[in-house]
Amino acid sequence: MLHAHRPDAPPLSVRPQHAPPGGADRLPRHRLPDGEMDPETAYRVVHDELLLDGQARLNLATFVTTWMEPQAARLMAECHEKNMIDKDEYPLTAEIEARCVSMIAGLWNAPTRPDGEGATGCSTLGSSEACMLAGLAFKRHWEARRRAAGASVERPNLVMGANVQVCWEKFCRYFDVEARQAPLAPGRTHLDADSARPLVDEHTIGVVAILGSTMDGSYEPVAEIAAMLDALEDETGLDVPVHVDAASGGFVAPFLDPDLLWDFRVPRVRSINASGHKYGLVYPGVGWAVWRSRDALPEELVFHVNYLGGDMPTYGLNFSRPGAQVVAQYYELLRLGFEGYRRVQQASRDTATWMAARIAEIEPFELVSDGSELPVFAVRIREGETAFDVYDVSARLRQYGWLVPAYTFPEGLQDLAVLRVVVRNGFGPELAAKLVEHLGEVVAALSGRGAVGGEPTAFHH
Ligand SMILES: *Cc1c(COP(=O)(O)O)cnc(C)c1O
Repeated sequence: MLHAHRPDAPPLSVRPQHAPPGGADRLPRHRLPDGEMDPETAYRVVHDELLLDGQARLNLATFVTTWMEPQAARLMAECHEKNMIDKDEYPLTAEIEARCVSMIAGLWNAPTRPDGEGATGCSTLGSSEACMLAGLAFKRHWEARRRAAGASVERPNLVMGANVQVCWEKFCRYFDVEARQAPLAPGRTHLDADSARPLVDEHTIGVVAILGSTMDGSYEPVAEIAAMLDALEDETGLDVPVHVDAASGGFVAPFLDPDLLWDFRVPRVRSINASGHKYGLVYPGVGWAVWRSRDALPEELVFHVNYLGGDMPTYGLNFSRPGAQVVAQYYELLRLGFEGYRRVQQASRDTATWMAARIAEIEPFELVSDGSELPVFAVRIREGETAFDVYDVSARLRQYGWLVPAYTFPEGLQDLAVLRVVVRNGFGPELAAKLVEHLGEVVAALSGRGAVGGEPTAFHH
């Protein structure tokens, strides 16, 4: 968010118990205080002000991890001072990052090569940074191929669905690439082969397929999109690579949908990203980017720095980054193993599909997706029901403490307004049942029927 400079904002008050005798009971809100205060007072002021933040675990809007085991939190606290970039100073943190890359590349069925030139990857601050890096690799590759062919490197484009996460629009705008977005259509909430095909041309640096869509949790058909591009290459000679934005699905599909072809088993998939801080089960921010082979990553994008000791190749937009998140990712991978991750994600999917099915039984809701891909689902209000909308429902749910966002879909489905629920580790059947119950109460109140008439005033937990 961009923030205005506001030195004249009204002051912040300090509760009498917290202000030391003779200490200030007012603090400037938007201006650096002139002097110091004792650490306990500072802690109390900040701690108390945050009380009005929502309860993270009741935040069904976010994909990002809101609960970790205390052992993981302890490890993170032990590593807070470690900077990920200082590979020479913290060689074991660096080694742990390398192990994570390898484990994750294996999870995505990356090919290995005896010469060590097989899959390569890195940690990032999140999927957004990973997507920028993958997009840049596409752009440089396309330019190199065009230059070699004596063709123009102007007007590159990237093909994607209108449902992409904002990071792809950012990539395109920040790095001068045209974002070619396939509009959605009734009954189709994401990109597919037919909608992508007309957008691809010789200026296309790549196609982004999403596993799964932020809008409704549905998986885009990666193998089908790749097959369309294979046919296109046979017809025209155009060789267009695919990047899979598996921000969420990268840590779901390998465990729950082992037969789904979406990863490096699809030869056209050049690179994949995932957010360690979504279904990777780590607190924000850590992401992962993996390329099929070392040569998918143009050498000119890799910087070698020697001022930290040793020769360190780096590919990233950030320099300093927290090391704790990478250590926490390693903890989760080691702690849970394949079977542990499978059980955690299956529990989330079971909760999501159960809840979606119950909500579908409440008039006037209708499912847009059912939680059977990402443990995420979206519901709409059935056509013709006009007494209230999804925004009213979202606002009422907030009075119970639930954060369930309401929004409209992008181009092609702008009239589709939904509520979306993201089920994550730590959100179990008990809470799910409560949400369904409260949703029923909200609908009854909004339709002017049922027991909960009038304005709900109390906080029901
Ligand atoms: C969340 C998300 C992103 C951005 O990821 P961050 O880790 O928040 O930077 C990108 N793409 C998709 C599909 C996402 O769901």
